[in-house]
Amino acid sequence: MDLIIGSHVSYGKPEQLLGSVKEAISYGATTFMFYTGAPQNTTRLDIDNELTNEARKLAKNNGIDFSNVVVHAPYIINLASGDEQKHEFAVRFLKEEIKRCEKLHIKKLVLHPGSHVGLGTDVGIKNIVNGLNKVLDRDSDVIILLETMAGKGSECGKSIDELKTIIDNVEKSDRLGLCLDTCHLNDGGYDVGDFDKILDEVDKKIGLDSVGCIHINDSKNVMGSGKDRHENIGYGTIGFDKLINIIYNKRLEGIPKILETPYVSKIDGEKDRSYPPYKFEIDMIKDRKFNNKLMEDIRIYYGK
Ligand code: FE
Ligand code: FE
Ligand code: ZN
Repeated sequence: MDLIIGSHVSYGKPEQLLGSVKEAISYGATTFMFYTGAPQNTTRLDIDNELTNEARKLAKNNGIDFSNVVVHAPYIINLASGDEQKHEFAVRFLKEEIKRCEKLHIKKLVLHPGSHVGLGTDVGIKNIVNGLNKVLDRDSDVIILLETMAGKGSECGKSIDELKTIIDNVEKSDRLGLCLDTCHLNDGGYDVGDFDKILDEVDKKIGLDSVGCIHINDSKNVMGSGKDRHENIGYGTIGFDKLINIIYNKRLEGIPKILETPYVSKIDGEKDRSYPPYKFEIDMIKDRKFNNKLMEDIRIYYGK
């Protein structure tokens, strides 16, 4: 089976989904992930059906199967919140987000479970379960993939057990799945160098078929740091070989792999990061060969 690899791409004015597909194609990707607006806010545009149809045609002609395309919910909504208004806002937003996914023909919606902000993990998880029960109040073929978190701050979902508790307690648990993030697993204390052990645990506790997406990121920090800072493929503490083994693990065949690695600065050491690394990272992954001049190659390509 062919490798299903892509990255986070942008979505917005004026081309909406068509722009996202064009960006994914420019990286040589076979899938992609996007936020339906800015990840840090909840303002959303109306969806233009004509642009969506054009995008789907273009994707099809370029080997991108929409069943592998993923939407990421904004990370500022918080189902774990004990603040009634914040919790209800997250519920309402997710209901609308599912409708947007349906309009865009997207089947997978990745969600950070939420942060308990001082209430404790048990209360946080209870709030998440209540919230998901309200969100999943009607039939839809959109699945919510709960992402494994690094455990930064008061994040819930930092272990497979916590995610299992959420899934076990939601009524429509068949509408839930998992998104495994390699950087978050590493920072959360899992040894991603032995990914089969992680998959065994997922399989035993939740079921391997629940895994709907893998976020492929290197990490700036060591295993168990609880930090969550992504690094370019092969340039962090996880390293190229371990990430390649995850990407090509037979048990994960057919599951979309999405890069969320940082943009590269125009000049080494500069703060402004303006060049996307994805075309070059995808090339390395397809070739299974580490490029130790990745940053230089990216600067030459986009700096022209
Ligand atoms: Fe995420
Ligand atoms: Fe992620
Ligand atoms: Zn992250």
